Amino acid sequence: MKNLDQRNQIIEYSLKLNSTNLSPLRSGNISLRGVEDNKEGYLITPSGKKYETLKPEDIVFMGLNEDEEKNGSTNKPSSEWRFHRDIYVDKKEAQAIVHAHSPHATAVSSHGKSIPPFHYMIALAGGDDIKCAEYATFGTEELSKNVIKALENRYACLMSNHGQVAFGTNLDEAFELAQEIENICHQYTIALKLGQPKILSFEEMKKVLDKAKNYKKG
Ligand code: 13P
Ligand code: ZN
Repeated sequence: MKNLDQRNQIIEYSLKLNSTNLSPLRSGNISLRGVEDNKEGYLITPSGKKYETLKPEDIVFMGLNEDEEKNGSTNKPSSEWRFHRDIYVDKKEAQAIVHAHSPHATAVSSHGKSIPPFHYMIALAGGDDIKCAEYATFGTEELSKNVIKALENRYACLMSNHGQVAFGTNLDEAFELAQEIENICHQYTIALKLGQPKILSFEEMKKVLDKAKNYKKG
């Protein structure tokens, strides 16, 4: 089978979506950039299947210029193939994408607001806040446009009344970032219960963002 290693990797991380409680049952989706028959594209989880039942042949390859109809695969690709494709087209560095309905990120997303720098780890998403994409129905082009906007100069964002999405240079990195976003949202939820948290200044976040660049280099 073509791209068997990548298909197995997607299954491994899909199971982790469930086991780490990042996304229960069949919610969320995962993709990896890839090439099949000289066509540039991405491999993505199928739509509506429980992760525990996934087999390598269930993972769908989609070309970057294809839509669901043109693809003609026997399995339906994730209903969110549009924002996965648009992220790969928009962000050359993106090699893997994780979308999750993680509990705290989803709760915070229902307020439809960016998360301000109440903690310096906000910098992990790439800037001094974590944006929230405007609401649109799941699986629509409009949702994809809103996600791309919220990901401007960022590696992750919330999706209003829905969840979160994170990308990385490999699947491990994208998954870890999604876990960090969930953790930040958990902390933010607790902080809000105590009143309005103190927000770090623009100057402080600039310092943190500069430091974080070197930290990532190890
Ligand atoms: P899919 O099963 O079609 O990927 O849908 C899950 C989801 O999270 C939609 O936003
Ligand atoms: Zn979703």
